[in-house]
Amino acid sequence: MKIERIYSQTHEKVLSCTDPVSGLRAFIAIHDTTLGPALGGCRMWHYDNAQEAMADALRLSAGMTAKSALAGVPFGGGKAVIMADPRTEKTPEKMRAMGRFIESLKGEYISGEDVGMTPQDLLFAAEETEHVVGLPEGPYASGDPSPVTAEGVFRCMRTAARLRLGSADLAGLTVAVQGLGHVGMVLAEKLSAAGARLIVADPNEAATARAARDLGARVVLPEEIVAVDSDIFAPCALGGVVNAESLGKLTARVVCGSANNQLASPDCAAALHSRNILYCPDYVVNSGGLISVAREALRIKDTGWMDAKLDEAVNTFAKLAKRALKEKRPPLDVADRMVADILAEARDHPKAI
Ligand code: NAD
Repeated sequence: MKIERIYSQTHEKVLSCTDPVSGLRAFIAIHDTTLGPALGGCRMWHYDNAQEAMADALRLSAGMTAKSALAGVPFGGGKAVIMADPRTEKTPEKMRAMGRFIESLKGEYISGEDVGMTPQDLLFAAEETEHVVGLPEGPYASGDPSPVTAEGVFRCMRTAARLRLGSADLAGLTVAVQGLGHVGMVLAEKLSAAGARLIVADPNEAATARAARDLGARVVLPEEIVAVDSDIFAPCALGGVVNAESLGKLTARVVCGSANNQLASPDCAAALHSRNILYCPDYVVNSGGLISVAREALRIKDTGWMDAKLDEAVNTFAKLAKRALKEKRPPLDVADRMVADILAEARDHPKAI
């Protein structure tokens, strides 16, 4: 196994790993450890090239720094990506090699589940390292974080609906859900139970068929979902979905979903704001999963800790969204400012958090 350090101006540490035996090609990016060891999931995805994979790890790990800071958990931001198709190229040997790669950092980075990964896959990595959370078994096991993420997104969506659409009652509202994976499907179930009308898209036809059958969802093609007539758009697939092209097509007045890095570039936040669309910052509303794995990483058995942290996160979102509306600023600006203040305070008073 060959591990190489890559120079970065923006991140504390970036490592690349190549393991010819298992075929593992992976990156770990540690963005900022001011608040604690870097915590963030491991994504498996079919990237076209190493630059694309590394860029994803850099973006995602920076998002984790912000997410931890606002969620009030003592962790920094990190992320890992494995270059492989999760449907055809995932092997126990690759996951064990990833475990050894994670172990090489001796706890500086703690990994978990992300797109293309399941808690079961993590067990192979956990054979080689202690620094993996979101495991399906063990004394502090937190399992799949997705239901907690979905619960946080759902509650923030209700808050956003109250602030932007006049009522937190989602009954009768149309919500367009992009992606029916671990988070999107649970979110769709909650929305359906709350009486929302669902429009969904996912290339996975089994998932859309299930949503149509069990939740009465209308199914559209993945390329159509952004433009469908809806009150709320919930991106729960990959990043970059709000971009120069999709901005003009959005009909929703609220964007609130689980996907990381929803905005293709930071100026999209201002563009959404100028179109009077309330954008709920991804790293604020999707912190439920982080809170779930943070409990395991901190070896806290009491799930009440997690419930209280999730309540706090939903309250933080409500506070910053209200402030943004009052000050007529994009909510992302307010969130980014809060993160910068938390990090500056922690740097000035290292023991304060
Ligand atoms: P997942 O892999 O289980 O689901 C993603 C789904 O999106 C899949 O069903 C996939 O087929 C679908 N998809 C891919 N391209 C699509 C497209 N163009 N249009 C519509 N659907 C498409 O992943 P997940 O765990 O549900 O996570 C979803 C998003 O939420 C990711 O961006 C992830 O980083 C983010 N997130 C997840 C968690 C968590 O707890 N799982 C926490 C925070 C953030």
